[in-house]
Amino acid sequence: MEPQSGRKRILVTGGAGFIGSHLIDRLAGEGHAIWCVDNLYTGSKQNLASVLQNPNVTYVQHDVTDALHLEVDEIYNLACPASPIHYQYDPIQTMKTSVFGAMNMLELAKSQNARILQASTSEVYGDPQIARQPETYWGHVNPIGPRACYDEGKRSAETLFFDYHRQHRVDIKVARIFNTYGPRIRTNDGRVVSNFIVQALRGDPLTIYGDGSYTRSFCFVDDLVGGLVSLMNTEPEFTGPINLGNDREVSMLELAELIIKLTQSRSPIEFQKNVPDDPKRRCPDLTRARRDLNWTPRVTLEDGLARTIAAFRALTATAV
Ligand code: NAD
Ligand code: UDP
Repeated sequence: MEPQSGRKRILVTGGAGFIGSHLIDRLAGEGHAIWCVDNLYTGSKQNLASVLQNPNVTYVQHDVTDALHLEVDEIYNLACPASPIHYQYDPIQTMKTSVFGAMNMLELAKSQNARILQASTSEVYGDPQIARQPETYWGHVNPIGPRACYDEGKRSAETLFFDYHRQHRVDIKVARIFNTYGPRIRTNDGRVVSNFIVQALRGDPLTIYGDGSYTRSFCFVDDLVGGLVSLMNTEPEFTGPINLGNDREVSMLELAELIIKLTQSRSPIEFQKNVPDDPKRRCPDLTRARRDLNWTPRVTLEDGLARTIAAFRALTATAV
């Protein structure tokens, strides 16, 4: 792919996944030339249905744990399973994807003099001991527990990003993404929003792990994608890390009740045992994002859930 004026050659790893495919929709819509790299571990080419006909979008089946050589101007490194059941299924592969994947993409960025953005996570804060997590918080992670392959993998990736920046002057951006939801989360993804919606639409009990008091803060995917693109377009000296998410914190019981209401479901709520090392609370401090990116999440939880439920309903007739 050859660059044209104003048009960038952009690599999105994990581009067949939930967030990656929405990001590609946005970037392809702006006329950029896109490489989508994915090994389809949790992604699907169906997520790319609307863009694969676009001659500017090229799909490459590739595992980021192997080196990659492409001519690019920008890299969004999103490849990594994000749902606990999927990243814990093969924890060694998860760690390899985070660490070797980051290193391979940083090497590519270095060789191409390309800008690279890492999809890091609120999981770097672990089970936080403070109510709202600013970027200055170093976190509270169990390094040997079942979530460590993901949490420590992502922490190591951040370390690599900042070391490549200091040692090789690679132009980096690090986004700490908080829980994101929207259409295209797989029905069997295992994360809470998709589980509750599928259960509510089927009339099955909504499964709350624990007593429902644990909290998360949910960002609609369109807002998140806007934040990622804003971060990518900041001045070279701006590296982050920067929190991207929504700062309305809800308990899992509130979320279950809201989804039952929005789906007009008659499903009961079923309390099940806690999962190990489950963070009790999570809510981003968005001061930096608002100040430095002039970005703020706009979609309310009610609107975003309604849009997600509509997308899941459209699948109900077939897959759900
Ligand atoms: P997802 O599972 O839908 O997408 C991940 C994609 O990466 C999939 O298409 C998968 O096939 C691909 N992939 C996995 N391992 C790979 C490998 N070794 N080589 C090539 N491709 C590989 O998850 P998502 O929710 O879209 O998350 C995207 C990124 O954002 C991930 O890095 C995740 O850690 C990060 N993130 C997501 C959330 C969230 O709430 N969705 C929160 C924090 C961080
Ligand atoms: N959760 C739940 N029921 C489910 C799936 C998840 O109660 O069917 C809880 C989970 O224990 C956690 C919260 O919802 O407290 C968010 O879980 P998710 O897997 O969506 O994301 P993460 O834990 O990675 O933030």
